Amino acid sequence: MTEQTEFNQGLIDFLHASPSPAHAVLMMEKQLAKAGYQALNESEEWQLTPGQGYWVTRGARSIIAFRLGEQPVADTGVRMMGAHTDSPCLKVKPKAELLRQGCLQLGVEVYGGVLLHPWFDRDLSLAGQIHFRNEAGQLTSALLDIKQPIAIIPSLAIHLNREANKSSTVNAQLHLPPILGVDMSETGSPSLVLRSLLATWLRDAGHSVADVIDYDLCFYDTQPPALVGLDQEFISSARLDNLLSCYTGLKALLHSHQQPQAATSLLVCNDHEEVGSASAIGAEGPFLESILRRLSGNEQQYQRMIAQSLLISCDNAHAIHPNYADKHDDNHGPKINAGPVIKVNANQRYATSSETSALFSSFCDMAKVPYQHFVVRSDMGCGSTIGPIAGTKLGVRVVDVGAPQWSMHSIRETAGSKDAWYLSQALQAFIYEWEGD
Ligand SMILES: [Zn+2]
Repeated sequence: MTEQTEFNQGLIDFLHASPSPAHAVLMMEKQLAKAGYQALNESEEWQLTPGQGYWVTRGARSIIAFRLGEQPVADTGVRMMGAHTDSPCLKVKPKAELLRQGCLQLGVEVYGGVLLHPWFDRDLSLAGQIHFRNEAGQLTSALLDIKQPIAIIPSLAIHLNREANKSSTVNAQLHLPPILGVDMSETGSPSLVLRSLLATWLRDAGHSVADVIDYDLCFYDTQPPALVGLDQEFISSARLDNLLSCYTGLKALLHSHQQPQAATSLLVCNDHEEVGSASAIGAEGPFLESILRRLSGNEQQYQRMIAQSLLISCDNAHAIHPNYADKHDDNHGPKINAGPVIKVNANQRYATSSETSALFSSFCDMAKVPYQHFVVRSDMGCGSTIGPIAGTKLGVRVVDVGAPQWSMHSIRETAGSKDAWYLSQALQAFIYEWEGD
């Protein structure tokens, strides 16, 4: 197996094992622990050792991992990579059970900018965090991934909507509640069905459960990720935006972690990017800043560190689609498997400057990987990501980049099987080869 094939297999395993942000964070913690990194608790006093790796989580859904350099951060700055752990999905409402036409359904909220149509006719399962009281009466929590397909949102037959292929709208309140079963008359009131199912599943997983109190659960597609194409050119999966970048950043951080480094390197993966990042654990919250302050010491040292740092914010980019090529600017249509994309927007929807773009392209050159540029058409609005938010909060230099992909925010997205690898090589050059400025 080549290094690249092994990398892609690891990415596929990570995507499959991470149906929710909390699962993605747990998977990252496992890899960090395996590499000798140590968990830190924000409520404790920290005694940190140069050369050692550490990680911190918030809300179990955002994570910062870093490895201290041999020199103080005020002298070298911090080499930062950023990504987000969340993906658009359907989240289960607190009182979710619905009984309509003899069908048990769960009411869902749309989380983020979901492309809704692909959610129909998929074999769905549930995953996320459950908060419950155990048999000793203590409030506790656990992660749950049902894994089995337990629900489906059937589409309406074309015979009942002849306009379906011309114009079809989805009403999120009416049309999205997934169906879990029929003829629930035996179970009595449906209002307790979900909590009692959750309690059973938790017990099956070995937990002591008296009562399920609350949860943060999302539906997901059970179809595993796959390599697709005549030459396996593509990776097809849910949540490529942006677990691809979480995995790639993690792999870059851990790549040569035994070899001593002068500068500190850091990976931040935030939840809540898909809903604007404004939360205690999102990129607009204080998580990254508070960790950087703890690493730097006094205010002078903090400011000196910020002035020398660089954040590579990684979030997938829109690849040009052969069937919809007019949606891209002629000169800025990134191609699949043609390398990481540097995202530029004059109106600062991306934080890239000509300086940080030049730096990132030099990392690609060092790693001998191609790179490309994305600028949205001048007659279209531009998306955004965590880069401008982190840059605004910290005053740090940022470059926004990402692997090109199709079908962003669909329940099944497509990326190139070379691009995550190319991105990881560029990030490794940034962390391990760049001499700094
Ligand atoms: Zn994203």
